[in-house]
Amino acid sequence: MKTIISLKDVEEMIRQGSDLSALTNGALLTPSARDLLRDWEEGSLKQRPGLAVKPGANLTAIAPAAAAPSIHAGSSQTELEAYFRSAACEELKRQICAMGQRLWQREYVDGNGGNLAIRVGDGVALCTPTLVSKGFMKPEDLCLVDFTGKQLLGSKPRTSEILMHLQIMQRQPKAVASVHCHPPHATAFAVAGVQPPTCMIPEFEVFCAVAIAPYRTPGTPEMGQLVAELVGEHNTILMANHGVVTWSHNNVEEAYWRMEIIEAYCRTLLVASQLGKPLKTFTPDQMQDLLKIKQNLGFVDPRYRLKECELCDNDEWRPGVVCAAPQPPAGGVAPGADPHPEAEAVVQAITNQIMARLGKSL
Ligand SMILES: [Zn+2]
Repeated sequence: MKTIISLKDVEEMIRQGSDLSALTNGALLTPSARDLLRDWEEGSLKQRPGLAVKPGANLTAIAPAAAAPSIHAGSSQTELEAYFRSAACEELKRQICAMGQRLWQREYVDGNGGNLAIRVGDGVALCTPTLVSKGFMKPEDLCLVDFTGKQLLGSKPRTSEILMHLQIMQRQPKAVASVHCHPPHATAFAVAGVQPPTCMIPEFEVFCAVAIAPYRTPGTPEMGQLVAELVGEHNTILMANHGVVTWSHNNVEEAYWRMEIIEAYCRTLLVASQLGKPLKTFTPDQMQDLLKIKQNLGFVDPRYRLKECELCDNDEWRPGVVCAAPQPPAGGVAPGADPHPEAEAVVQAITNQIMARLGKSL
C-alpha cells in the first residue's frame, strides 16, 4: 500500500468497485483525493466526468487524522513548517513542478515567465519562485505565501506576479489553483484585443469562459484587481498585451488543461480563418447542450442566463487579413507617381515620431 493516496488511486479503486476501507488509517490523502471521497460520501460523485461509479465502498475507515495538517494565515511558524514538509504539501509541490514542465515543453513560457499557485489553507497559498524557468523547477524551490503576498516559507523568493493569483483566489472562493503563462496564439488575441469567437469547438465551450483584462504593469495590485473583477463568471482571462491566466475549482492540472484548450482553440481559429471559407458554428440548441454539460461540471460561464438566440454572437470577430493601404484613384496612377501617397504620409509621420522619441531618450 502506498503511503500517499492520490486522486488517481481513489478513482481507480472506485472504478474497480474496491472496498475503500482497504486504505489504512495511516494513509495520507492528497487534497483532491480527499475531495473525491467527500463527494462520494455526499452522493454527488456522479457529477464528475468519465468516472463510472460502483457504489458500495466503505469509506468510514478513512480517519480524519489521516488528513494533512490544516493551516491558515494565523498558524504558528511550527504549524506552517510542519505543513510545508508534509507528504500532502510535497504532493502539491510535485504537481506544480510537473505542470511547469508541461508549460515549458509546450512553449507556453519563455525565459522565467509564467507562474502557478495552489490555495492550501485559509489565506495561504503555495506558489512558484521568481527567476526560475518553469521547465526546471524542483519541489524545494516552491514558496508558501499568505494572501497579502508575504512569503512565509521557502528558500527562493516567490514570483513577482503572485498578487494576481491571490486576488483571483480572494475574489473567487471556488478557485483552488491558478496558472499564468504566455501561450503565443492565445496571447496574440490578447495583444489584438480580440475576444475569441464562440460556438465552434465543443472542448473550448465546455472548459473555458473567456474575458479580456486591460493592460497594467505585471505584478502590480492594479493588474490583479482588473483580472479579479472578471473571475466571478470567467475562468480564462486574456491579459491584454501580456498573456493568459486560468483558474480551477478542482486542481492545478485542470487549470493547466484550460491553458492547453484556449491555446489550441486560438491556433485552430487562426488557421481556419485563412482557408477562405466562412467558419461554421453550432446551432443555438447545440450550444445550449454544451452549456448544460458545463453547468453540471460546476464551471462558471456568464451565458447560463442568456436566451438561446443570444448565445452565438460573434460580432467582434473579423477573420482574415485586410489590406489597410488606400486604393489608387479611379483611372490608375501616372507612370512614376506614388501609387499610395496617403500611406507614404503615414509612414513619414510615424518615422518622425520615432525619431523625436529617440532624440528625447538619448
Ligand atoms: Zn506574465
